[in-house]
Amino acid sequence: MITMDHLERLENKSIHIMREAYNQFKNLGMLWSIGKDSTVLLWLARKAFFGHVPFPLVHIDTGYKIPEMIEHRDRLAKEWNLDMVYGQNRTALNEKQTFPDGTTTHLDCCKLLKTQALENTLNGKWPRYRMNHKKSQYEIDSNNEAFEGIIVGVRADEEGSRSKERYFSPRNTHNDWIIEDQPPEFWNQYKTDFHPGTHIRVHPLLDWTELDIWEYIERENIPMVSLYFDKGEGKRYRSLGCWPCTKPVDSHAANVHQIIAELKTGKFVNIAERDGRAQDKEDGGGLEVLRRDGYM
Ligand code: SF4
Repeated sequence: MITMDHLERLENKSIHIMREAYNQFKNLGMLWSIGKDSTVLLWLARKAFFGHVPFPLVHIDTGYKIPEMIEHRDRLAKEWNLDMVYGQNRTALNEKQTFPDGTTTHLDCCKLLKTQALENTLNGKWPRYRMNHKKSQYEIDSNNEAFEGIIVGVRADEEGSRSKERYFSPRNTHNDWIIEDQPPEFWNQYKTDFHPGTHIRVHPLLDWTELDIWEYIERENIPMVSLYFDKGEGKRYRSLGCWPCTKPVDSHAANVHQIIAELKTGKFVNIAERDGRAQDKEDGGGLEVLRRDGYM
């Protein structure tokens, strides 16, 4: 008798959800933040579709991402021949309406550089930049069709508001999330038919934990940004974001195996995974305030 282990069960369910999404939504994309969760999602997409991801990878580039993240994005995009697209709020950056410029709060900066950029990248109202693999550079995308569905690598255990998500979660025309009005998903039955114009977020990683993610990365040998690993200073990033707002944690874990061992000690059991992200702490409402308005 063939039995599946825990990671195989998670992998199977995530692949099933991704294939279902590809089958149901005409213009489907996948958000890739370059972090560990969405890179696992990308790996699963390659497995689900036999090596070739059949939809664009979308990155929202705030302009403040740690440079190594952008290098990692473009290296894998080339190696894996990904249809790579990014969007950005260039007006806010040019006009210096940002927290690092000292002109806005964290929350307002995130709304401008993340939420607004995401909404207008997904609906095609702002320019999108697509990788031209022949020239090895980004060009303005001539296709400005809206994405009907977007696959996102959020996990329920990562942060309180994310535990309220569904696998197939509708957003209204402004990308707003009405938490109180979501379809039930009993016994793995997913509602995938929505009113025309509804934008759907698809969450294949909802059941994965931080430890599952790292054990899967080790099992599959998935390439990760080296920012996750200590390089001799006793510090590493547990969660990646914009450099002005993301702090590393104290840790000597220098590789995936050591991260898994460290997580198993329970060292971080009372410290939220996104504890190093300054914007989550502002406003008292935490990430839920941003996520209701469309943030990832
Ligand atoms: S994380 Fe910081 S720099 Fe990035 S968008 Fe939010 S406030 Fe701005």
